[in-house]
Amino acid sequence: MSTTSAAPAADPQPIRPAMSKINKPFWDGCRAHKLMAQQCTQCRELRYPAAAICPNCLSGVKVAFEERGSDLTVPVFEVVAG
Ligand SMILES: [Zn+2]
Repeated sequence: MSTTSAAPAADPQPIRPAMSKINKPFWDGCRAHKLMAQQCTQCRELRYPAAAICPNCLSGVKVAFEERGSDLTVPVFEVVAG
């Protein structure tokens, strides 16, 4: 029977989101303490997370990010690795 003990587990590292040219304005806004969101120019749906195509009307029209005030609720979820 072996008496060796396992090495201590490393501290968990935060999961960093992938940066792309689509979501970069959102993350740049976060760094500047601004909540930025896309708004579809066709149906006015707010897009979060940022997407190249509107999930509501499937419009592919490029939209600009706008700073949002208190009118935007961001869904929060937790990823549990198992
Ligand atoms: Zn739309």
